[in-house]
This record gives sequence, structure tokens and C-alpha cells, in this order.
Amino acid sequence: MSYTGPGFDPPQPRRSLRGPLTVALAALVPGALLGWAVYAAVDGPGNGGSSAGASATASASASSGAPSSTAPSPSGDRKASASPTAEESSSPSAPAASGPLKGKVVVIDPGHNPGNFRHTAEINRQVDIGTNRKECDTTGTSTDDGYAEARFTLDVAHRMRALLEEQGATVKLTQDADRPFGPCVDERARIGNAAKADAVVSLHADGSGAGNRGFHVILPGAVDAGAADTRAIVGPSRDLGERIAGNFVRVTGSAPSNYVGGGTGLVTRKDLGGLNLSTVPKVFVECGNMRDSEDAALLTSGAWRQKAARGISDGIVSFLRG
Ligand code: ZN
Repeated sequence: MSYTGPGFDPPQPRRSLRGPLTVALAALVPGALLGWAVYAAVDGPGNGGSSAGASATASASASSGAPSSTAPSPSGDRKASASPTAEESSSPSAPAASGPLKGKVVVIDPGHNPGNFRHTAEINRQVDIGTNRKECDTTGTSTDDGYAEARFTLDVAHRMRALLEEQGATVKLTQDADRPFGPCVDERARIGNAAKADAVVSLHADGSGAGNRGFHVILPGAVDAGAADTRAIVGPSRDLGERIAGNFVRVTGSAPSNYVGGGTGLVTRKDLGGLNLSTVPKVFVECGNMRDSEDAALLTSGAWRQKAARGISDGIVSFLRG
């Protein structure tokens, strides 16, 4: 991610919860978390085997199986909203003939842009995010070997688009490296809004310290300031995010972050323009930490990225089907 530099949240103390973890898993038997349970039993989520993800079982599992409390809005005319916002995207939009997501619109927002580093003046321009002003966009991070976050996010976006179009969804990307830089975070939000998206997912990988591992999903906090009013999307976005977290664990076997979110894999923030300015359900997914060598080995693997794309897509499908 690297919006404001490394370490956007203070690291949280690790807890050893091996005992309670077992109990929680036995009690909940969450299908969505079996993958993680196996992973944890074999080797813990890394970093000394600490089970920092334990409490995630409660949070993520409770949600992953829970019926949607917020039915997606009827979407009779979604196709009409394939808004021709000219410079945008690129999604070749295969005709969604049929499938369970027919009529649903999903916007995928690949974080950053591979060309951002050539346009520092433009992306450093301040934009209004409701609560304050912030950089238009950032370059994103990379692995120690130079695999850029912006390449990662586009690759996962393409894989997700294929999976979701198979389900009949109309899929739109906010950028496809088809523009020199950006879009700015406020425009990224507007693209989802203009598309009347049923769900928006912004893709990222983090740039935290080595030893910090795992994924997390960022949910919008309740913001009512300036042009930002997230109050209507906080609930459905949480539902979307919890379903993505549960399915991400199930499909990838990756543990929730051991450095933010208290092991839940969920973090709520009010400082991201892409969330603050959204009027449709939206979350960010930080798929792993590019600066940790073990996470980097996953993030640079095409096979793993396919799993990540499927986990996130399965979460979206679950959310949209209710
Ligand atoms: Zn990022």
C-alpha cells in the first residue's frame, strides 16, 4: 500500500493463543477457515509460529458463513451504467451472458499504476478526501527484488476479472496501465460510484517491515465530513470485507495479518480517500507484505496470485449472492 509510508498503524503485540484457537475452531467449524486451520496447525502463521490470527477465527468465520444482512440493491439496469467515462478502463467487458452474477457490476481498483514513479509531480498533487487533503496517488511498494506492487495489483485484477465474468458479472477496472499515471484516489472512488457498482475492491500489497506477514482487509469507518459520507456503506462494506477475508483464508491458506487488526484480518480506517469518497460498498485488500521474504515468495508466484484472486472473487460472489 504505502500511502503514507511504512507502518500506518503501530504494530500490535503478539499474543499466544494456541489454546483458545483450538477451542474456537472446534466450536465454530468454519468451512471458510479450515484452510487456515490446517495451515496454522502445520506451521502457524510464521514469525515464530505465534498464532496471532486466533481471534480472526471468530471474526472472519462468523461473517463468512453468515447470511448477508444487507441485500445488494436490485440491479435491473446495471448494464446501462457501464459508464463511458472515457479515459477509464479498458475492461474489455466480455458480454455477461448468464451466470449467478448476471446484472451485477463489480469494480476492481488495482492500486497505484506502473507509471506513477515517472509522474511524481502529478501524483503528489493534493486532492480532497473529505476529512482532509492527501496525495493524488502513490507509487506503491515493491519486493526487495523489485517486483512492483503496481504489477501485482494489475495481475490479480486480471485474474479476478476472468473469474467474475465467468460468473456473469460486469467487471470494470479503474485503470489497466492504460494511462500514464493514477487515477487519483478521489477519481478511483468516483469510478465505482459512477458505475453504480454493487461491490468495489481495491487491490494492494503492503510495504511493512520484514517479519510482518499476512493479509488484511481494510473497511471504511463512518465518516461524515466534506464530500465524504460513508455512513450508508459501512455496514455492507463490512459484510463484503468479512466474506473476502474468510474466503481468502480458505483459498490461499494465508493467515490474517500478524501486525495489524489484532489477528482478525480486518482493519477499519477513515484516512483513505478511496474509501471515504465511495458511495457503494468498498474495501481494500492488502494481500500480503512485499517487504517480508516469505510473503514476497507468495506474492511473486503466479499460482499463489491465482489463489488470491479466487479467494477475493469468492468473497465478492458470496456477498453479491447474499
Ligand atoms: Zn498499495
